Amino acid sequence: MLKVSKLNAGYGSVNILWDIDLELNDGEIVAVLGSNGAGKTTMVRAITGMIRPTSGSVIFNGEELAGKSSRTILNSGIVQVPEGRQLFTEMTVLENLEMGAFSKETKEHFRENLKKCYKWFPKLEEREKQAAGTLSGGEQQMVAVARALIGMPKLLILDEPSLGLAPNIVDDILLVAKTLVKETNISVLLVEQDITKALATADRGYVVENGHIALSGSASELAANEHVKKAYLGI
Ligand code: ATP
Repeated sequence: MLKVSKLNAGYGSVNILWDIDLELNDGEIVAVLGSNGAGKTTMVRAITGMIRPTSGSVIFNGEELAGKSSRTILNSGIVQVPEGRQLFTEMTVLENLEMGAFSKETKEHFRENLKKCYKWFPKLEEREKQAAGTLSGGEQQMVAVARALIGMPKLLILDEPSLGLAPNIVDDILLVAKTLVKETNISVLLVEQDITKALATADRGYVVENGHIALSGSASELAANEHVKKAYLGI
């Protein structure tokens, strides 16, 4: 479904990502793991067209996306939940969800997708008319995920969903991601610093260090890897 090859990207003249290779198959949850500043968000930005890769390839369902605009990439079915959620805090929950319907197709399917989102996150229906900025952190993360789902993604990218949330709320969000993959045809790229939770959720993972892929493997292989245990799990 997604094949990233030899991807290089950065900011201005500073290169951050070095020859990134990553694959994600239909129906998978793939984790991108790494500590602060490793380059995870930069990778997401390069895949989604928020920054332009300097070289390399991002093939999604047979189409080359590297160098394409973020709008083209969005239209191809890659929708992200950005780090920090980036909601319109003065707007209501419902208005934020409406912002997720960016195309003719997603606008046409808005009502039915809204219903599905309320099924995934019943709290959001109760809070439909509340300003998003007055919700709890966990509820705001739910709005951010629901807004992405309104965009009818084929690939959903979750960038640090655990940021600033209580562990049980993170579990709820990750459970929805897992159920989504099982019950729909959506695949998930899960970018996380919380490596224990990410490996408990994902099928496979990649560890990013200093802008390089340092390791990759199944979630169980990574959880058993001595370097991962020592550097990230503290065991
Ligand atoms: P975190 O988990 O803290 O979000 P990350 O793995 O997502 O970290 P990135 O945000 O991709 O890491 O940052 C990788 C490097 O790129 C860091 O050294 C950071 O300072 C740099 N960087 C990030 N955004 C910019 C920017 N807009 N301009 C210049 N440098 C940036």
